[in-house]
Amino acid sequence: RGKRAFIAGVADDNGYGWAIAKSLAAAGAEILVGTWVPALNIFENSLRRGKFDESRILPDGSLMEITKVYPLDAVYDNPADIPEDVKANKRYSGSSKWTVQEVAESVKQDFGSIDILVHSLANGPEVSKPLLETSRNGYLAAISASSYSFVSLLKHFVPIMNPGGASISLTYIASERIIPGYGGGMSSAKAALESDTLVLAFEAGRKHRIRVNTISAGPLRSRAAKAIGFIDMMIDYSLENAPLQKELTAEEVGNTAAFLASPLASAITGTVVYVDNGLNAMGVGV
Ligand code: NAD
Repeated sequence: RGKRAFIAGVADDNGYGWAIAKSLAAAGAEILVGTWVPALNIFENSLRRGKFDESRILPDGSLMEITKVYPLDAVYDNPADIPEDVKANKRYSGSSKWTVQEVAESVKQDFGSIDILVHSLANGPEVSKPLLETSRNGYLAAISASSYSFVSLLKHFVPIMNPGGASISLTYIASERIIPGYGGGMSSAKAALESDTLVLAFEAGRKHRIRVNTISAGPLRSRAAKAIGFIDMMIDYSLENAPLQKELTAEEVGNTAAFLASPLASAITGTVVYVDNGLNAMGVGV
């Protein structure tokens, strides 16, 4: 039987999550996605109205099928965590069962198990503020949405993941090198995500034979990246300074995710894989 993947963090066809879904679908996987609750309506309507049809085309000419779209907010683990104002918010009250635990339960009810878990989401409300000007709440919110969200997803999905399964997250070099502009505690959140990749690789590997890797991706003009405000500069910088002076496509990250999720990578776990045209290897810009 083909593999089944759950990809958290797909709300349009511009980001890494969409590209990973496509690469996994092209390799024969069944695709389930988790979409941020406030973005759910627009995403589902656009899907239904065919707005993404051109981007759904796979290498063999067929269209990627998304078997089911689940509403998800990865900063809440279960209903008891939801604050009153969020509960009352119209964008949230229109959907149900969107906490991490409930989504894992729904996937179990609908499909029984999955093989591949992808975390392609991040959020830092103060990302445009330097770390020195970041509030405690902003910092903790970045960690909650961008780092703990992965711990929580893996924790709740591991029991329904088939042994030999794989999980993948997306990180950024700002965790280990100074990238001015990637603020609000987002650099800290990516450092936590990479460190957790090691510990979770051990724990999920020993307990359930599940692999845990993260892809350190180069700059892509996604919706989230545009919100940070410096994405065009980072793309230009990479074009000028990376060993490979070419555009980085989301597909290249998607293909790496498909490799990491496949039996071809059966001995790879606890690693950070750079998909950035080699920019991370440079010591100076030239
Ligand atoms: P994107 O906008 O396509 O993806 C981010 C997704 O996260 C969005 O769909 C958003 O709705 C979702 N999201 C935000 N908060 C959420 C929450 N609480 N619960 C559920 N979903 C939530 O942008 P992207 O750039 O493709 O981001 C995907 C991943 O790639 C992120 O982890 C990001 O940090 C990482 N990354 C991006 C770049 C880049 O240049 N774009 C570089 C390196 C790493």
